[in-house]
Amino acid sequence: MPCRILILAEHEDGALRETTFELLGMAHRLAGDAGWPPSGIKAVLIGQGLGDLAGSAAARGAAEVICVEGEAVKDYTCDGYTRVLESVIKAESPEIVLIGHTPNGWDTAPMVAAGLGVPIATECSQVALESGRPLFTRKAFNGKFIQVVDMGDARPKIATIQKGAAPAYTGTTQGAVRTVPAGVGADQLRARFVGIKKGEGGAVDLTQAAVIVSGGRGVGAPEKFGVIRELAQALGGQVGASRPVTDMGWLPHEHQVGSSGVTVNPKLYIACGISGAIQHIVGMKGAGYIIAINKDPDAPIFSVADVGVVGDLFEIVPALTKAVKEAKGRA
Ligand SMILES: Cc1cc2nc3c(=O)[nH]c(=O)nc-3n(C[C@H](O)[C@H](O)[C@H](O)COP(=O)(O)OP(=O)(O)OC[C@H]3O[C@@H](n4cnc5c(N)ncnc54)[C@H](O)[C@@H]3O)c2cc1C
Repeated sequence: MPCRILILAEHEDGALRETTFELLGMAHRLAGDAGWPPSGIKAVLIGQGLGDLAGSAAARGAAEVICVEGEAVKDYTCDGYTRVLESVIKAESPEIVLIGHTPNGWDTAPMVAAGLGVPIATECSQVALESGRPLFTRKAFNGKFIQVVDMGDARPKIATIQKGAAPAYTGTTQGAVRTVPAGVGADQLRARFVGIKKGEGGAVDLTQAAVIVSGGRGVGAPEKFGVIRELAQALGGQVGASRPVTDMGWLPHEHQVGSSGVTVNPKLYIACGISGAIQHIVGMKGAGYIIAINKDPDAPIFSVADVGVVGDLFEIVPALTKAVKEAKGRA
């Protein structure tokens, strides 16, 4: 079956990264919108001894997993991945290539695009079809502008996709796995894998959170964020923030939701003391259920909320935390 959409399946510590399933989710939505059969959605997986992971991707969204194996590509190097991706893309000739905007994806995707002489849109928050053409939405100039990229008739069109930009594919498929040799030796690569050094623990990844309780400037001061943290903790969620909160150093930047922060897709998003500027809303409007708490009844955040509570967050949030704890105690 001809390949319409090719995704890069990434793996880490013996498991597929969640971004793989998000890309498969996006690929299925795009294929559905375009009227392309799901059999045109393929994944490329690079490494060694990846049979089980290839099977997982084939069972969760990929019609075919091209498993490229070899000692030289056992571990990630930009050089090795770029060579493999270029040759798979040439052979499969997909219309669209989706790569996660992860450290590795961000590293290799522009090299692949340059090597093939095709356009690329990086860090996209959305890909949508308009009159049959895929349009890629991304931030430009450090989040000051939202850019919509039309790559014309280029084939393929390559994009790196922000984590959390699409819900993960949740269906089941019976895809095939095709294992092929990498065809590249370590002596042909300029880069050599040395090791992975992980950052300090405790880093926040809001893109994977099922519940986010966010505080805005309305919280008033960093020491008052305790009420937000307690509700997040009671719900088993993470703490998010609007930009003024991170700009003022009340919370680190990784907590910021919005056009110059992260795009999130939780099941539940609770916005406390956040007015609802467009730059914030673009980062959280994909949440499954939105509760907004604000003392201003005209706050724009209410336009995207499923439930809006007009009132003082310092009365409502602790009451909500108490109710959640009581409900959990009863369960
Ligand atoms: C290029 C650019 C990029 C940007 N990127 C982002 C981004 O990624 N994310 C982002 O969030 N913003 C971003 N912004 C900023 C954005 O435009 C807004 O200024 C910002 O979102 C406002 O944050 P806020 O809602 O916390 O503050 P405010 O707009 O000041 O709103 C505070 C709200 O709290 C309410 N409030 C006050 N006290 C209480 C209380 N006791 N109880 C209940 N409610 C209360 C008020 O009624 C008000 O609605 C960006 C701006 C630019 C220009």
